[in-house]
Amino acid sequence: MSATMATIERWLGNPVTRFLLQWLSSDCSRCGNRLEVALFRFTHGGSAPCIFCRLASWLVGITLRRSGKAFGVREDLMKEGLLDPYLRRGLTTVIRSIARHGITRPQRINAPFLVVWDVTHRCNLRCIHCYQDACQALPDELDTGEAKGVIDQLARAGVVAIAFSGGEPLMRPDIRELIRYAKEKGFFVSLASNGTLIRDALAQDLASDGLDYIEISLDGADAAHHDLFRGIPGAFDRTVTGIRACVSAGLDTGVATTVTRETVDHLPAIHQLAAILGASMPLDCS
Ligand SMILES: [Zn+2]
Repeated sequence: MSATMATIERWLGNPVTRFLLQWLSSDCSRCGNRLEVALFRFTHGGSAPCIFCRLASWLVGITLRRSGKAFGVREDLMKEGLLDPYLRRGLTTVIRSIARHGITRPQRINAPFLVVWDVTHRCNLRCIHCYQDACQALPDELDTGEAKGVIDQLARAGVVAIAFSGGEPLMRPDIRELIRYAKEKGFFVSLASNGTLIRDALAQDLASDGLDYIEISLDGADAAHHDLFRGIPGAFDRTVTGIRACVSAGLDTGVATTVTRETVDHLPAIHQLAAILGASMPLDCS
């Protein structure tokens, strides 16, 4: 460990520093989380509504400028990086975690950065690999109000991103309401779907709801392979239509493939099809 890092660790482990960090990263009833407010002010300027958050913003500004000087990072580059609201929330969670637990190895974090949430057990496909063995809604699935309550809890905990999954999340009639609510609470929101229920109008609605990313499952580059895997004839055509609709609506669209003995040889062709459709695939098959 370098001398600088050892000094930072000592400084962060100091009880006075941790007390200050706990105050900085606590919630203000008027402004929201003080640290998030301070990081926002650092990048966007202006002043916080209350005097305590103005003080917090001043302290955070000084600390960031001094740290930038110590590490040779220009202030404008720091501000540019922190323009990303998800980075600001992630940084807030890390600092809150250090305030709560001190420096630990590995670092204990108060909340995961991403929560993948199976919001329903319902599904319109019968995939042979499905870990959910999904079909009908479970009797104790959360209703809209309860699901919003969970989103509130995740926001308070400092989670950065929510990925709605299932089952098929679009089988929930309130899924758009949940997406909009999660966006209001400042999350990066994504959806994992089989794509078969998506047409142009729904894709445009999802884009206007603020959905950040949609990942659609594709397990073959043609109907024969995909439909065999997904258990319903016609699924491939509907999934491809769904991917096209999402791309046309301007949604950031990715393709996900379950790698098994049945699909592994088809990965390059699936990758090629994803590229033709204008979707990304987080896998280099070249
Ligand atoms: Zn305040």
